[in-house]
Amino acid sequence: MGELIIGCHLSTANGYAAMADDAVSIGATTFAFFTRNPRGGNARELDAQDLAAFLATLSEHRIGPLVAHAPYTYNLCSAKPETVEFARRAMREDLERMELMPGHLYNFHPGAHVKQGADEGIRLICEGLNDVLEPGQATTVLLETMAGKGTEVGRSFEELARIIDGVKHDELLGVCLDTCHVADAGYDIVGDLDGVLDEFDRVVGLERLRALHLNDSKNPLGSHKDRHERIGEGTLGLETFRAVVTNPRLAGLPMVLETPQTGLDGWAAEIALLRTLAAREAES
Ligand code: FE
Ligand code: FE
Ligand code: ZN
Repeated sequence: MGELIIGCHLSTANGYAAMADDAVSIGATTFAFFTRNPRGGNARELDAQDLAAFLATLSEHRIGPLVAHAPYTYNLCSAKPETVEFARRAMREDLERMELMPGHLYNFHPGAHVKQGADEGIRLICEGLNDVLEPGQATTVLLETMAGKGTEVGRSFEELARIIDGVKHDELLGVCLDTCHVADAGYDIVGDLDGVLDEFDRVVGLERLRALHLNDSKNPLGSHKDRHERIGEGTLGLETFRAVVTNPRLAGLPMVLETPQTGLDGWAAEIALLRTLAAREAES
């Protein structure tokens, strides 16, 4: 198996070039970042020089594909039309900006239907994506698997499949599987990772799986809580992550840590840990 493509969520606070330098400093070969302030304000204009330095670092260190993350505040299936309109406009702007760094991935939370029901939620998400996606765009948009907290849509592979089915340009869509979220949603990746991947393949199709979020969980299977834990310190445990990073069906996918850490050192250590887990298997 090839090298793991692994990294973590990084901050754009000091610019894009500095973010790519951070990735290099912790041994990351992919990473995630918010496409704008997570509270959903205006996106800063990209500085051409900063962008050029960013792209040069990515190519020099063979980093990517990146998995950009839409702010949590976007909700394509809100009951409030102005919230839906904001989410559509912001996603359109994010994707326009991502055309300046072609070939990466853009992950978003499908939404929360706020008691309108999952059917109406799915209908609105499809309508939003049909409005936002531009045929020929250079970014693949990923639906994230959700824990099923509150009225979250995307809590089951069936819901994700229904969204994909309702989108005209579905060639622009993929899925990002979050290990904490799927376990919290009730998929037993601890006991039977391959069975869960079989199920994903049957319902969605494994070719749709384009990225992973690696998080341990503070809560038991099926809890619908969505509280991330550091790798090996939660209910998923180290052996689950060894199984993930050595699974041939997941080889070559970018894997992004979203674990609670206080600084880059913690992520550097986790990246090294996962590389060790992957390498041990290769030797035996
Ligand atoms: Fe997420
Ligand atoms: Fe996630
Ligand atoms: Zn989460």
